[in-house]
Amino acid sequence: MAKKIIILGAGLAGLSAAWHLKKKGIQATVFEKEAIVGGLCRTKKVNGFVFDYDGHLLHFQNNYALKLSKRLLKGNLIRHERKAWVSNFGIFSRYPFQANLNALPKPVAEECLWGFVRVCNAKPAMPGENFLKWINATFGLGIAKHFMVPYNEKFWAVPLNQMVCSLWVEKFIPRVYLSDIVNGFLEGSCDHFGYNAFFWYPKKGGIMQLPLAFEESIGKIFKNSRINRIDLEKKEITINGKDKEKYDSLILTIPLPELIKIARPLPHKILACLNKLQWNSIYNLNLGVEGTCQPDKHWVYFPHKETVFFRAGFFHNFSHDLAPKGKSSLYAEVSYSRNKPINRKNIVKHVLRDLYKLGVITKKNKILVTDENDIKYGYPVYNRNYIRATSVIKDFLYSNGVITCGRYGSWKYMSMEDSILDGKEAAEVF
Ligand SMILES: Cc1cc2nc3c(=O)[nH]c(=O)nc-3n(C[C@H](O)[C@H](O)[C@H](O)COP(=O)(O)OP(=O)(O)OC[C@H]3O[C@@H](n4cnc5c(N)ncnc54)[C@H](O)[C@@H]3O)c2cc1C
Repeated sequence: MAKKIIILGAGLAGLSAAWHLKKKGIQATVFEKEAIVGGLCRTKKVNGFVFDYDGHLLHFQNNYALKLSKRLLKGNLIRHERKAWVSNFGIFSRYPFQANLNALPKPVAEECLWGFVRVCNAKPAMPGENFLKWINATFGLGIAKHFMVPYNEKFWAVPLNQMVCSLWVEKFIPRVYLSDIVNGFLEGSCDHFGYNAFFWYPKKGGIMQLPLAFEESIGKIFKNSRINRIDLEKKEITINGKDKEKYDSLILTIPLPELIKIARPLPHKILACLNKLQWNSIYNLNLGVEGTCQPDKHWVYFPHKETVFFRAGFFHNFSHDLAPKGKSSLYAEVSYSRNKPINRKNIVKHVLRDLYKLGVITKKNKILVTDENDIKYGYPVYNRNYIRATSVIKDFLYSNGVITCGRYGSWKYMSMEDSILDGKEAAEVF
């Protein structure tokens, strides 16, 4: 008899696993707690505005993932050249900060340049146990002080000296050479650094068109089906507190810390490792506004502590389809964690206050629509326990017939592309 494969979660990772299994002639069964597929990669329509859950742009680095997405989206995908900025010292300067020093006040730019020159003369920093040390040793004290440290402290919402960076930093933080820094100091740079120099986005319908296209060709997806028990001994899941379903193999894309509540039995050692996992959460405020707003920007970084959000982006510049004619739409992202909570009561007021204060929106941009999203599991944090805890948990699950997959199942800083590829890899096990 064919093996019964169950996939938990219909985000991009779960959908990709199901799609790739189907391609091999294997029909898996997918359970999703929400009424629609897509997970974080979802879109909603509010009074004529099309909002994603926070900014979701495709930064392809892998040709297979790009080709697959193009095929699924049947031409509904446009490539854009990034227009990203940093808001600092009362001005907007081009991103990456470290390669565009010329727009900054002269003493700041010189401090950044000389700080970098000093570290160039030292041994290159290897990503290791202390993210803060790596920043200082890679970019020098000026760039660290004026951008890298405050931005990352705000973004991760945990002390940077408690983070390891060997597994992710080279991919997500653009390194630059002395020549780039000097060029950026003298005249501004050509702006093609890093994994996100280009992005792809659907011409119509928001980012959710991608999971919807996967769904079309998969079949057995049960929505409104929350898994509230995984019995690892009986190899059985419980759906919505009543229905039971046996499996031979489970592909798990739901966040690992959720296992504390739903998986049984969990040996003490595994429970201890699950309790060591750390993450930040993202509060996202989407806005639909009257008139034009920042027509030359895709997104802006806000490193300062005084500004409540760490980034804001402009949906209407990703696709004209996302805002009604003559109107604009944007998102602001606020990071928080157990160490650094936010005041939910005043958050909308504070976000709007800072958007006006920094000139991101003006009085002409009357607010027409607000839409809030609270993303509990934002970014898995690479703390000092990360490597051991994740490998112990994954080995235990694997020996019990559970394959972990996706950003929250694999518990990795993954992009949408990575999640698609991780789903493919999970399917290759069979
Ligand atoms: C704020 C933010 C911004 C991002 N921006 C970008 C970007 O610009 N570009 C990019 O490439 N990537 C971005 N990402 C990353 C991207 O969203 C993820 O890599 C990808 O969407 C993860 O897909 P996934 O399937 O692994 O997880 P998810 O999308 O979380 O899917 C997991 C699914 O499991 C379901 N589920 C959970 N618990 C249960 C349960 N008990 N029972 C049944 N179902 C359950 C959930 O409802 C969900 O549908 C961003 C992430 C965040 C948090």
